[in-house]
Amino acid sequence: MKIVVPVKVVPDTAATLKVEDGRVTWGDAPLVLNPWDEFAVEAALQTVEQHGGTVTVISMGDESALEAIRKALAMGAKEAVRIYDDALAGADVRVTAQVLAAAVRKMGDVDMVFFGRQAVDGDTGLTPMYTARALGWPFVGLVSAFTEMDPAGRTFAAERSVGEAKQTIQAPMPAVVTIAKEFAEPRYPSFMGIRKASRAKVPVWSLADLGLDAPAAKVRWPEITMPPKREVKVEFIEGATPREIAEKLVDKLIEAKVL
Ligand SMILES: Cc1cc2nc3c(=O)[nH]c(=O)nc-3n(C[C@H](O)[C@H](O)[C@H](O)COP(=O)(O)OP(=O)(O)OC[C@H]3O[C@@H](n4cnc5c(N)ncnc54)[C@H](O)[C@@H]3O)c2cc1C
Repeated sequence: MKIVVPVKVVPDTAATLKVEDGRVTWGDAPLVLNPWDEFAVEAALQTVEQHGGTVTVISMGDESALEAIRKALAMGAKEAVRIYDDALAGADVRVTAQVLAAAVRKMGDVDMVFFGRQAVDGDTGLTPMYTARALGWPFVGLVSAFTEMDPAGRTFAAERSVGEAKQTIQAPMPAVVTIAKEFAEPRYPSFMGIRKASRAKVPVWSLADLGLDAPAAKVRWPEITMPPKREVKVEFIEGATPREIAEKLVDKLIEAKVL
């Protein structure tokens, strides 16, 4: 099987984000593989371990995207491609999806595309569906397990996590799926994997390589601002005994209509 996993580099979730001069910044905080994409890489690796094949990761972005690509390679992905072109600055989800779809087409004979459910920074969760649409392939969201995978018969069956319930889906291949965290805990990269990934040469494809003219973004971000600062008042409740303090606290909570 040939499985492609698009991955995105994002600021570490522990980073403090700020807006400076209209741009989002996270200071010196490290960039990491989008945590949801780790589940997609894990699912792809388990699938080729059972059915044979290769896992290729792709990322559209500047050199910082290599951080995400190398982590996925260290986990066990065999191949990687980075897509970069100056004309992609300010790409919206539609453009991102068109570019990812063109890369999947260029690879040829791809059976499945596994995405993470969303990026922890952009957070739209839309790229997978837009990519499926651009490819004209079926889309299955939040897969928690594959119950059947038949590359020769060109079908698969999957379980979806739907709140408390599970739903079983059957669909033809090729298809685009997103992987839920219930699928499996992502593996830790091995020491050998990290060494191999750090030396891997990752080819860069431009729009010309993909046979695309610069797609025009339709959604613009004219302004980014921080949420207004919240006013917080702190009041220490004094009292001779814990009971007196508790009673005063209850009175205040009733007065504030919390109780
Ligand atoms: C400098 C900058 C400027 C931007 N300007 C604009 C703008 O003007 N208008 C606008 O609408 N958006 C803009 N964006 C946002 C950009 O379009 C989104 O980050 C991108 O489309 C993905 O959407 P998302 O982050 O919500 O990912 P989601 O849809 O939440 O991600 C779902 C999954 O898609 C995959 N994925 C997402 N992005 C990539 C990628 N690049 N490569 C590979 N896989 C990926 C990952 O697997 C991820 O788990 C800008 C982003 C940056 C960094």
